[in-house]
Amino acid sequence: MRLGRVLFANVTEPAVLHQDTWVRVSCLGLPDLEGGIACLLSRSQELLGALDGVVISELVARGDAVPAASAHLQSPLERTSSIIAVGLNYRAHIAEVEWKAPTNPLLFAKWSSALTGPYNEIALDASLSQQVDYEVELVAVIGRHTRDVDVAHALEHIGGYAVANDVSARDVQKADSQWTRAKSFDGFCPIGPWITTADEVADPQDLELSCVVNGSVRQHANTAQMIFGVAELVAFASHGMTLHPGDVLLTGTPSGVALGSESPQWLKPGDVVRSEIAGLGYLENHITARAAAEAS
Ligand code: ZN
Repeated sequence: MRLGRVLFANVTEPAVLHQDTWVRVSCLGLPDLEGGIACLLSRSQELLGALDGVVISELVARGDAVPAASAHLQSPLERTSSIIAVGLNYRAHIAEVEWKAPTNPLLFAKWSSALTGPYNEIALDASLSQQVDYEVELVAVIGRHTRDVDVAHALEHIGGYAVANDVSARDVQKADSQWTRAKSFDGFCPIGPWITTADEVADPQDLELSCVVNGSVRQHANTAQMIFGVAELVAFASHGMTLHPGDVLLTGTPSGVALGSESPQWLKPGDVVRSEIAGLGYLENHITARAAAEAS
C-alpha cells in the first residue's frame, strides 16, 4: 500500500493510493486519525477494508480523491518526525571520501525543517555554500513505538520505506566540525514520493538505488552493500531512545557523491536531481537559486 500527503483544494492531508487515485483518508470514516500518516502505517488491513466498495468517480467529484497523474504530492512526513541519519554505511562511499569504516553505526540528525516534497524545487543560497552535494538513501519509517528492540525483531517495527536525498553542504559540514546544520538547510531533505508499506518490501537489503543528475548517473548501488543493515540500524538507534511512529532513519548513501570525485560537480541552479529506488518510486528536484529578495 502507498501512503502519501496530497494537496486537496488548499489543504494537505494523508492519502492512500487506490486504483491510480489518491484518496483522502479522512473521508473513509476510520477512527483515531489524529496521528496523521504515522498512525496509518500499521493499519493497511483497516484501510483496505474502508476502501472496499468506494466509488472512485464519486470521491473525485466530491474533491476527496485526485487522479495520481494530477496529484500534488507533498513530503509524506510531517515536521513532527525525528530524522535520524546514518553516515559512512557503504564501503565504496567510505573509500571515496577517505574515511575509516565506523565500528558502530554513525548516527547524526537532520532537522525536520529541511523536509520538502518529492518534486519540489531546492533553492540554494550561494552566500552559505558553494559545495552542495547529493546523497540518495533508503528511508525506513518507524511504524510503532520502539525501544530496546533486538536485531531479530527490528524489521517488525518498520511501517514502510521511501526514498530520500540527504542533501549536504560540504564546505559548511567541514567548517562546522558537526554535520547537522550543513545537512539541514531548507529543502535539504526531500523524501517520498510516498511511503510504501513494509508488507510490500520483500527484502530491504535488496533494493537498487540511484541518483541521476541532469540525466547522468552519479550513484548506482544496491542496499545489499550496506555495512549495517536496516534491522541493525533500528536496533542500535532504539537502545537509549524511543523511536516513535513516523520517525525515520536515512540509512546512508552509496558511492558517487561529488565529494568523492577529483573534479566535483557540485549542485547548481538549473540542475535536475532524480533519486530513485526500484519499487519505491523516485524524487525529482530542480535546483534553483535562492533570491536575495526572499531573505527576511
Ligand atoms: Zn547521508
